Amino acid sequence: MLSFFWCGSRQKAQKWRQIEEKAANLEQQPSWNAPDNSLIFQAFEWHVPADRSHWRRLRDLLPAYKAIGVDQIWVPPGCKGMDAHGNGYDIYDMYDLGEFDQKGAVPTKWGTRQELEDLMLQAEILEIRVIWDAVLNHKAGADYPEPFKAVKVDPKRRDLEISKPVEVNGWTGFEFSGRGDMYSSMKYHWQHFSGIDWDDKSKENAIYKIVAPNKDWAKDVSTENGNYDYLMFADLDLTHPEVRADLLQWGTWITNTLSLNGMRLDAAKHFSTGFQKDFVQHVKKTANPDFFAIGEYWTGHLPSLLDYLEKVEYTLTAYDVPLVEKFSKISHAKGSDMRHILKDTLVECRPDHAVTIVTNHDTQPGQMLETPVAPSFKLLAYALILLRKGGHPCVFYGDLYGIRANVENPMTPSCNGLLPILMQARKLYANGEQQDYFDQPNCIGFVRYGNARHLSGLACVISNAGSAVQKMYVGQRHAYEEWVDLLHSEMKPVIIDKKGYGVFAVKAMSASVWVESATVSRDNIKRDFNVNIYNN
Ligand code: CA
Repeated sequence: MLSFFWCGSRQKAQKWRQIEEKAANLEQQPSWNAPDNSLIFQAFEWHVPADRSHWRRLRDLLPAYKAIGVDQIWVPPGCKGMDAHGNGYDIYDMYDLGEFDQKGAVPTKWGTRQELEDLMLQAEILEIRVIWDAVLNHKAGADYPEPFKAVKVDPKRRDLEISKPVEVNGWTGFEFSGRGDMYSSMKYHWQHFSGIDWDDKSKENAIYKIVAPNKDWAKDVSTENGNYDYLMFADLDLTHPEVRADLLQWGTWITNTLSLNGMRLDAAKHFSTGFQKDFVQHVKKTANPDFFAIGEYWTGHLPSLLDYLEKVEYTLTAYDVPLVEKFSKISHAKGSDMRHILKDTLVECRPDHAVTIVTNHDTQPGQMLETPVAPSFKLLAYALILLRKGGHPCVFYGDLYGIRANVENPMTPSCNGLLPILMQARKLYANGEQQDYFDQPNCIGFVRYGNARHLSGLACVISNAGSAVQKMYVGQRHAYEEWVDLLHSEMKPVIIDKKGYGVFAVKAMSASVWVESATVSRDNIKRDFNVNIYNN
């Protein structure tokens, strides 16, 4: 397929001149202080085996992650949950990191506290920063039920009460007897919560709002379902001074204890945005001034996402859910127009506050927020989040290795196993200014011009239809160089012309990443990333 660039009208010639001029200016103004591209790796998927070996597994794998450009890992929720095999979102005790005999075991699903500390030490040695998955919205697995008054609310309109106050028996008594008063003497009772979903007296399942003076759902939460304070289990009341104090103290304690770099706040739609902001500011002040926080505010509605960031006063970042939904939609409609793929996404309007992902443990098949991006599109999507300017990209464990759906099915890494190469390409070549060529509906391209520390740039072409070519300007300093596709060695090399242009090809439904051939051997790209993690 020939692009319209071959048509040669006067307007197009003018456009080329503008691109050349702009690129020439960019080359003269290298970003001297640009930081190296950081890269987050989400180091788990929903079905990691409950073998209590994951902290050890990750510790052993960290050097391999470092080698492909990972410098931050997002670890799973490692506080003791109500189920010893659970992923930790069913949090029981925030201060038990696999240290106390509670809920049937000392370790969590992921391992013991000692193994967690060994992982943290290895991360520190390798200068990999760690993001903790913090569950602050609720508690689960109470030690005993307590009597108190509550009203039922309409599940679809939680701001509407549908019963008179009745006495219920709710699971809200937390003693933490295995831990005692170590690290915190706080015990939780019904007064510390705002809602439950099970009355042990009537044996009835419903959303119960706890009734007490000055107690109500939080107002500064998502307004979906009328009020989305309640999500699951025993919902914490973050207006209670003892709850606030305990959570703030925990934030300082765990950040100092594990030398954390940041946190992902789970269920950020469901608890006070005012508290989220206070929490992040408190941890910055008391433990780590560079603390990086991601709020899991899951909505594809960009204005709601921007409203959330306003409310937390930009102390947190957020997942670019609108982008994930675009990837999902475009990936399922073959031949969709890609020219506006970034329009109305968070990375487009707030790049510094956008965590860009393709998949995570909640969007993977079978999970709560399932948003499947078709397997054939994942390479294209990852090329966009990893190689372009803007955003904090996060690669998913389930894409790097595949999802462990059941033990019989072999795990299949996404992107035909090319993801580790794309990750290295981000580190080595995706630097400096950027020029977009988003002119053709099914074939988009962009060039990165390099910076002072990383002189070599790249040219990326993406097609969601047939094979295609894109003519792009990579800079006159590259004239007569041979460029090759990092992802597909069988592609014919491109010779940059004397003016600095190349005609770059891409295979059908694929991405190509072109770089100067001499740099490939120099940079020693690792192509033998081991994906057999559970057989080692
Ligand atoms: Ca809540």
